[in-house]
Amino acid sequence: MSSDPNCIFCKIIEGKIPSRKVYEDDELVGFHDVAPWAPVHFMLVPKRHIASMAQLTADDAALMGKIMTLAPRLAIENGCRPYPEGGFRVVVNTGAEGGQEVHHLHVHVMGGPRPWLKG
Ligand code: AMP
Repeated sequence: MSSDPNCIFCKIIEGKIPSRKVYEDDELVGFHDVAPWAPVHFMLVPKRHIASMAQLTADDAALMGKIMTLAPRLAIENGCRPYPEGGFRVVVNTGAEGGQEVHHLHVHVMGGPRPWLKG
């Protein structure tokens, strides 16, 4: 499993920095965003250090499919109301112009009653 010693999300994955986890398996971790934009705001993060969505290859299709199919279940478990009245937003910021601040691929899942701080 590749890891970057200077990456804050690698440190969270390795337990060197605390986080509030919503999910963990052998290849993924989910944890609450420390500065939430919405009443519910967590991220799903591959354990392997992948800098951004721009680095994905066809070999990552199953990993990304797992993230996308886990998101609805975890959204409900963490307080989002059901579709269609409730729902959630999924965001993957990629690169400087995409607004990415942490360069370890992460999928934001946000929801809960409006208004939100951002988005
Ligand atoms: P992005 O702009 O998509 O790269 O978002 C990075 C996100 O990581 C931001 O929403 C930050 O609030 C969040 N973040 C940064 N450090 C931590 C941390 N130690 N624990 C949880 N979330 C964090």
